Amino acid sequence: MQLDYDGIVQRYEKYIFNTYTRQPIAIKSARGAVVTDVNGKGYIDCVAGIAVNNVGHCHPSVVEAIKRQAEELIHVSNLYYTEQQAVLAEELVELTGMEKVFFCNSGAEAVEGALKLARKASGRKEFIATENAFHGRTMGALSITYKEKYRKPFEPLAPAVFVPYNDAGAIRAAIHENTAGVILEPIQGEGGVIVPSDDYLKEVREICDEKGILLILDEVQTGFGRTGKWFAKEHSGVEPDILTTAKAMGGGFPMGAMLACEDIAANFGRGDHASTFGGNALACAAAIANIDVIKKEKLVRRSEELGNYLIQKLESLNKNYVKEIRGKGLMVGMELSIKCEDIVNRAREMGVLLNCTSESVLRFVPPLTITKEQLNKAVSVLDEI
Ligand SMILES: *Cc1c(COP(=O)(O)O)cnc(C)c1O
Repeated sequence: MQLDYDGIVQRYEKYIFNTYTRQPIAIKSARGAVVTDVNGKGYIDCVAGIAVNNVGHCHPSVVEAIKRQAEELIHVSNLYYTEQQAVLAEELVELTGMEKVFFCNSGAEAVEGALKLARKASGRKEFIATENAFHGRTMGALSITYKEKYRKPFEPLAPAVFVPYNDAGAIRAAIHENTAGVILEPIQGEGGVIVPSDDYLKEVREICDEKGILLILDEVQTGFGRTGKWFAKEHSGVEPDILTTAKAMGGGFPMGAMLACEDIAANFGRGDHASTFGGNALACAAAIANIDVIKKEKLVRRSEELGNYLIQKLESLNKNYVKEIRGKGLMVGMELSIKCEDIVNRAREMGVLLNCTSESVLRFVPPLTITKEQLNKAVSVLDEI
């Protein structure tokens, strides 16, 4: 197989739905924090598949685990048991402090499971979500995703109300007799890397307990060390009733999970929910190896340290167009007073991949394995731009 860039793009235009705005490069390979395009040009990757490649691209331990597992067993139905699922479930329960796991394949699918479970457990229908929230593109997840542009063409969706993020009082005021639960990102990702005040989640937890409604934390983006903790909920000490995660879970292999406390999980009986591929042996083997790498290479602490380092470096840049720099661990946003699209384009030409979210926020979510030298290079390119 040897298509050049034009050959690839022509086929995309001819055969693939036009649902993404793509950067004009085709990636051929990647290792650590560097991706290489089909012309052999290398880029320092500050996007990491959008907070997916936390252990770096093609981490040798993950590659090895996938190879070994693929030779033994790739997939069997959830009609049967596998060792990989058992081992991973135990590991996840230990890491999250939750009690039961449902395996799936993506963030949106984890959120769908959470919404169904919350409805079944509460007997109520409506959700409270937050302004600028992003929870995915399937019908249920879309109902609680804030951007009107994403939602409007697909209505009617599930009933939901949006309240300002980082305002616990607004949640209290929005609760009524049909409210099933509140769903939140502990740090908003797509919404522009918005870090709430320290006591926000605690207050929301108290309100949910007082009113008898469920708290769902969406850690699809913030999980697996991204924010300098295994899960971002640890920054506040708050335990949700239901937790969703996905992106970095499989070390690049597609995988997601919905976790819950025992008494909530007990509301799902046989046949209430299912996923053909959910927790297949290959995905579980990748996730087990991924978690092992995060532990062995102490990437959670590294995320915290490098995040602080990156924020410091960004703070030292010329502040002309910079409104705010914020984040936790290696989930950092730099809000500009201008749109960031041109900066993303120029950085790419200069060998650095950056992501722009909410039009004017440069989002840095590099592999947690990125080196200081690579971060320095990325920041110096930004400085030059
Ligand atoms: C990316 C994301 C999702 C959706 O995940 P997909 O795997 O794209 O379906 C949901 N919630 C949050 C917080 C996300 O960042």
